[in-house]
Amino acid sequence: MWQGIIEKYRKFLPVTDRTPIVSLSEGNTPLVRAHSLSELLGSEVYLKCEGLNPTGSFKDRGMTVAVSKAKENGAKVVICASTGNTSASAAAYAAKAGIRCVVLIPKGAVALGKLSQAMVHAAQVIAVDGNFDKALGIVREIAEHTPVTLVNSVNPFRLEGQKTAAFEICDQLDGRAPDYQVIPVGNAGNITAYWKGYTEYKTAGHVSSVPVMLGFQAEGAAPIVRKKIVSKPQTVATAIKIGNPASWKSAERARDESGGLIDMVTDREILEAYRFLAAKEGVFVEPASAASVAGLLKLKRKSFFKKAGKKSVIVCILTGHGLKDPASALLGVKKPKTVRADTRAVIKAMDL
Ligand SMILES: *Cc1c(COP(=O)(O)O)cnc(C)c1O
Repeated sequence: MWQGIIEKYRKFLPVTDRTPIVSLSEGNTPLVRAHSLSELLGSEVYLKCEGLNPTGSFKDRGMTVAVSKAKENGAKVVICASTGNTSASAAAYAAKAGIRCVVLIPKGAVALGKLSQAMVHAAQVIAVDGNFDKALGIVREIAEHTPVTLVNSVNPFRLEGQKTAAFEICDQLDGRAPDYQVIPVGNAGNITAYWKGYTEYKTAGHVSSVPVMLGFQAEGAAPIVRKKIVSKPQTVATAIKIGNPASWKSAERARDESGGLIDMVTDREILEAYRFLAAKEGVFVEPASAASVAGLLKLKRKSFFKKAGKKSVIVCILTGHGLKDPASALLGVKKPKTVRADTRAVIKAMDL
C-alpha cells in the first residue's frame, strides 16, 4: 500500500524512528505520456502531474516532511506566506497533525480554490496589503522572534520532501533519468529540490545520468532571468508571481551544474500552453504549471532540441491542478448556450 513519500523514500530523508509521520499519502503521481506534444517535438514528452497530490499541488511532498519534523520538535503553531498552494497544503497537514496553522496571503492575489482550502482546513488566514515577497519577509521575522515554525520553502525540510518527485520520475522511467526536465520557477525552491533529488539518486546508483534543467519564469515576474529583483511582479500565473525568489542562488546552481537555462515566457504563451494541455492532452492544470509547457514550445521554436540529435526524453513538471483556479479557465471562453429542455432543440444546438 502506498503510504506517502516518507515511507517510500525514508532512507533519503531526515527522519528517524521517533519522527511522527504526518502523511496524506502524497506522491506517486502519474507520469503521463503526452502524445500531441511528443509528435510536435519529435521527442518523448511526459507530464508529471503533481496536481494529483492530496491538496492539488506538489507542495504536499515538502509539507509532509516539514510538518512531521515540526511535530517531532514539539511545534504548536506553523506559519507560512503563500500565493495559495503552500497555505492550502500547510492547512491540511497541520489539521492532520493537530497543530495550529496561520497563513499570510497577499490581499486579492490568491486563486479561489486555494483560499477555500486554507479556510476549510481551519487555518487562520490573514490577508496582507502587499505582495508575496512582503508577506514572506513578515513570516520570516515572526519565526525568528516567536516559537512558531516556518513552513515556507526556506525551511530545508520542504525541499527534502520535494526532491522525491525526481526519484519518482526516475523510477517511473524504469531506472533512467530524463534528458531534459522543464519546470516553472517562482520562489525557486522546486527547481532546487529536483536537482538535489536527481544528483542524490545518481550518487546512490539508481540512475546513471541527470537531466538538463530548464526553468521558466513569467515575463512579468522574471528576476532570475533579468538578474534583478522585480518589485512589482505581474502575471496571470499567480503561483509564480514572485519578484525576489528565496532560493535564487541554488536555482542558478541547478541551472549551471546541469548545463541548463532559466528563461521566461509571456502570459499569452502561458495561457496558450494552458489551453493546449487541456484541449489536446486532456490535462487540466493551473496557469503557473503551464509555464513549463510554454517554455518547451518556446525552445522548440528556437530549434533547441534539434541540436540534441537523438530522440530525447523530456519531462514537464505540472505543478498544480486546474481546479485550483477556475476563474482562469473561464477567461475569454464563451458561456454555455441555453436551449429549451427538448431533444430537438438540443440536437439543433449540437450543430452536427
Ligand atoms: C509553488 C508553485 C510553483 C513555484 O514553485 P517554486 O518552488 O516557488 O519555484 C509553481 N507552480 C505551482 C502550482 C506552485 O504551487
